[in-house]
Amino acid sequence: MLCLLLLAGAGCSRQAPAAHSPGSQPAAPRERQEGEGDMTEKVTRTDAEWKALLSPEQYQVMRRKGTERAFSGEYVHLEEDGAYLCAACGNELFGSEAKFDSGTGWPSFWKPAAEQAVSTSPDESLGVSRTEVLCSRCGAHLGHVFADGPQPTGLRYCINSVALSFSGERNAPQKGTASATFAAGCFWGVEAAFRKAHGVTSTSVGYTGGLKENPTYEEVCSGATGHAEAVQVEYDPSVVSYEELLEAFWNCHNPTVPHASGRARQYRSAIFYHSPEQQSAALASKERLERSGRVSSQVTTEIVPLGRFWRAEEYHQRYLEKQGGESCEIP
Ligand SMILES: [Zn+2]
Repeated sequence: MLCLLLLAGAGCSRQAPAAHSPGSQPAAPRERQEGEGDMTEKVTRTDAEWKALLSPEQYQVMRRKGTERAFSGEYVHLEEDGAYLCAACGNELFGSEAKFDSGTGWPSFWKPAAEQAVSTSPDESLGVSRTEVLCSRCGAHLGHVFADGPQPTGLRYCINSVALSFSGERNAPQKGTASATFAAGCFWGVEAAFRKAHGVTSTSVGYTGGLKENPTYEEVCSGATGHAEAVQVEYDPSVVSYEELLEAFWNCHNPTVPHASGRARQYRSAIFYHSPEQQSAALASKERLERSGRVSSQVTTEIVPLGRFWRAEEYHQRYLEKQGGESCEIP
């Protein structure tokens, strides 16, 4: 049994794309607060004006809260770099970097272009609890948001194509990557979890935080080296922030298990920071987690500077992918 301390493997995994319409699962994103996001000037028109301005299909979706047929919209499979604007008022709603293929037949995004770009509202129509997504500038109905999206947000904004207008004018995300290093139990599962996060460009598993140079897996397993199984993550900061990676880190394991000594230290929870900025972000994120009530006992995660990272043997790299498995559970 190599992976005694399993990651909460299922918790790490992005759920399989759900083949349901903007209808079957309630999400619980943050509700819009009064007075928040008023940076853009509001667009207000009468119903008759909207009817004259919009196509009949746009009017039905955006002003009458309709839903276009799955796979009927022009942006379902669009993969070009650019921005998705509100078809009614031009407000920039989503960026192509947050678009993903959900398999549902509607354009899907895991975050809006900016927090204030869209607003949400509870929707109890059709006998189900859903969360409606609206353009924060003109109040147009756009679609719904569900809690079954990919990391790092775990959200799926399911949007009608007809409510969007694509613009390729927007500057493409900046190139250049940054690195982060995490330990959260068996590195196979942790690597698999981070590989599913948007904006992660590459990963490698290895050993760090101990004493022995260039250790073997067997040496690390003996408990004598003090190394942790760790994952080095390369990411594009214009797509995913370090804070969002920290969220994915907390979500993929139980950070309250004490890993005091001996063999268990191989599986300890640790953030190996690369810079003072990462250190403060990690400390702040840990404090927020403890205050949030999401954990019942003290977070035992160590937040320490990264020393030398020793890349693990090749057969450990992308191990679960090679095995075709999702879980760290092996005999
Ligand atoms: Zn709008």
